Amino acid sequence: MRQQILLDMDGVLVDFLSGALEALNRDFNKHITIEQYASEFGQWGTYDYYGITVEQFWNSIHETPDFWYNLKPMPWYKELYALLSEIGEVTILTTPSLDPSCAMQKLQWLDNYMNIKSDAVFLGSRKYLMAGNGILIDDYQKNVEKFKSSRGDAILIPSNWNTNGLTFKRIKSTIDPFFAGVILPR
Ligand SMILES: [Mg+2]
Repeated sequence: MRQQILLDMDGVLVDFLSGALEALNRDFNKHITIEQYASEFGQWGTYDYYGITVEQFWNSIHETPDFWYNLKPMPWYKELYALLSEIGEVTILTTPSLDPSCAMQKLQWLDNYMNIKSDAVFLGSRKYLMAGNGILIDDYQKNVEKFKSSRGDAILIPSNWNTNGLTFKRIKSTIDPFFAGVILPR
């Protein structure tokens, strides 16, 4: 059987945080850039960085029309997907927000940018339930830890919200050891 790869979306294929910062800057009258965020904070918990509540954070996002659909891709999204597709069968594993339209917009985004249809997508926050069914590639430490503690294999990759000057090369070097060195030439 081919290697099964479970690929996260936000922070991996999609630049979620830049979109979130734009919404928050608008609503809370700030001018925070993603570079500033990565160097000054570099962790999840954007609401703490802005000094707002979790509810305010999500309100800002949910009140932005087509927020999820309009998110920009990460620079390497196509290359990363193509590379992983050479190694195995890739399934998108992504957590929608509590707004039901988020799930729809995520599917629309994947179709629009990547021609990925819903048959290759799992939407849900309980990623650990997929442990043992493929190797997870995710930028969120908690997802990776929970996946591993459920006896799954998972790779934590850096993202633009915690690493300035991030390159595709850096991402490849993080992923490569898990696939017995097939990604980078020796
Ligand atoms: Mg993510």
